[in-house]
Amino acid sequence: MSLRKISPKRPVREYEHIEPTVRVESAAQPTMTSTEIKQEFIRQAKEVWRGSDKLIDQITVDVVIYDRRTRMGVVMSGRPKAINDILLRVPSHVRIEVDRKTLSMPKETIVGCIKHETIHLGYPRHDEDFRRVAAQHNIPISVNQMEGKGFRVQTKLGSRKYETVSTHETLDEAKAAGHKLAEELRKDGRPWRLRIYY
Ligand SMILES: [Zn+2]
Repeated sequence: MSLRKISPKRPVREYEHIEPTVRVESAAQPTMTSTEIKQEFIRQAKEVWRGSDKLIDQITVDVVIYDRRTRMGVVMSGRPKAINDILLRVPSHVRIEVDRKTLSMPKETIVGCIKHETIHLGYPRHDEDFRRVAAQHNIPISVNQMEGKGFRVQTKLGSRKYETVSTHETLDEAKAAGHKLAEELRKDGRPWRLRIYY
């Protein structure tokens, strides 16, 4: 999951948030429509950011359905700002990008994704603040986490593919395991890469 600034030179800054790439095998009927997703986003945003209804009502929200391997993301105009759990500034426009296959996932999963995206209204990155708000509201940091796949410590040795070494329930646990493993790999001397995947 990463957050990318689309163009630093534009007068309005935009951020794109991309969820992990996961394939969904489904051609079923959509569980939620674009309009429902938009309404749910506004409703959930007001749940997460209590007392910020007026600010949230100023946001123009639209939903774009695309065919990609990323499930859901938000592109925001302007840089949002929050302190603790209070929104100070919101983007004037939020575009929710939804992969077509996501629409056929169970409603609970889609709503989980929507809740996650609402935190980005205040915290564009998955930093400590983001994770604190997520934990408070029991909101998953990723779809994988929602599906119980946890946080995976993965290593890539030489030219081989990334392989999962261990799976953890929290990001902090995964990080701790990752650091420990990195120490061992350093001693080993062979080329390696390590990542935490979620
Ligand atoms: Zn995110």
